[in-house]
Amino acid sequence: MVSYDEALRTILDNVSPVGSEQVPLSEAVALVLAETVTTPWDLPLWDNSAMDGYAVRTEDCGQPPCKLRVTGYLPAGASAEGMTVTTGCAIKIMTGAPLPAGADAVVPVEETEETSGEQVTIGAAVKVGQHIRRQGEDIRRGETILQAGSPLRAAEISLLASCGKPLVNVQRRPVVAILSTGDELVEPGTPPGPAQLINSNSIALAAAVREAGAMPRMLGIARDNRLSHLEKMRAGLTADCLITSAGVSAGDRDLVRAVLEELGVKFLFWKVAIKPGKPTAFGIFEGKPVFCLPGNPVSSLVTFEAFVRPALLKMQGRHKLLRPTLQATLREPLTGGSRMQFLRVALEQEAGRWFARSAGNQETGILRTSLLADGVAQIPANSAYESGAEINVQLLGEPL
Ligand code: AMP
Ligand code: MG
Repeated sequence: MVSYDEALRTILDNVSPVGSEQVPLSEAVALVLAETVTTPWDLPLWDNSAMDGYAVRTEDCGQPPCKLRVTGYLPAGASAEGMTVTTGCAIKIMTGAPLPAGADAVVPVEETEETSGEQVTIGAAVKVGQHIRRQGEDIRRGETILQAGSPLRAAEISLLASCGKPLVNVQRRPVVAILSTGDELVEPGTPPGPAQLINSNSIALAAAVREAGAMPRMLGIARDNRLSHLEKMRAGLTADCLITSAGVSAGDRDLVRAVLEELGVKFLFWKVAIKPGKPTAFGIFEGKPVFCLPGNPVSSLVTFEAFVRPALLKMQGRHKLLRPTLQATLREPLTGGSRMQFLRVALEQEAGRWFARSAGNQETGILRTSLLADGVAQIPANSAYESGAEINVQLLGEPL
């Protein structure tokens, strides 16, 4: 049996990005950049006004109030070519319009009074450079501004658009085949008969796959016989990654590992010293990862978080593979079990500090506890914590 750390290291050592593709910028949000982006020009492109007001020469505005003659008008989109602010004059300018020659400051309209269409009174002191956005003050031409591996958020998309890129090279989303196994399962929508159970794992794992940025491919249910397993698994092994749920323990109907081996999957481990999630197996088929997760709905999601999510992020070229953690003070004492435990934890913030307590009954049959959990804490085997001790909690998203 391997430890959690060994198991995760084995997985991450054996997965790599699945490749890149060009997509329109409008479809690139939440994908991962697969190229290094260098700015083709300065941003801003040219000096421009940050306010609606008047472009002036500070030397004309020494002792307010000062009267200046208005000799021109520059709305956004108008060219300043051939326009110059000369001594004793001002040009009316709107936000975003190019700064005319001769001007070294912009006076906001609120600090002026236009006495007639031709004259303006400047009511306040004026500093050189005020309310001017200088060419290149944000980003310089030729700067490497985005690295391959950056997840694209709205801000990155904004920058790529400003660099004039209609298409962007991104990491392809891995296609993840999802297979549930078990004779007791019916698909959601079919009322479960006696001894039947709704296949909630497929759709839950598909949701987790999507949250991790990958594309689920649903394979349905393999029944507890070799032929059904063979047929579904053959289809699953054509994807970039295969996830199965259930049928990996020691039961006499647990066929998953044997059939995958028959199809050529090489297993690197099949038991991990964790709770929940001991019967988790990981193998490789033609360089592609195969995860066999436990059937219990809580266990399958906990092991997805612990093992599959980091792998899917690496397969998308991301560098940060683990969720952020925060330190929290325990509200209650805790004792570890005989294996390292993933404790589902509820967080509360009080006076700027985080406090943690068990989110509820930690038995793997209790999904309710997952609904109340903000994060997961790794509790080492045979450990004991007093109330008030500090623990690290890995967030499962934003705290509820
Ligand atoms: P197994 O590993 O096949 O013994 O399954 C472990 C437990 O998980 C059993 O109680 C199963 O009924 C349950 N289970 C297995 N597959 C699913 C599934 N797809 N959705 C929900 N529960 C499942
Ligand atoms: Mg089963």
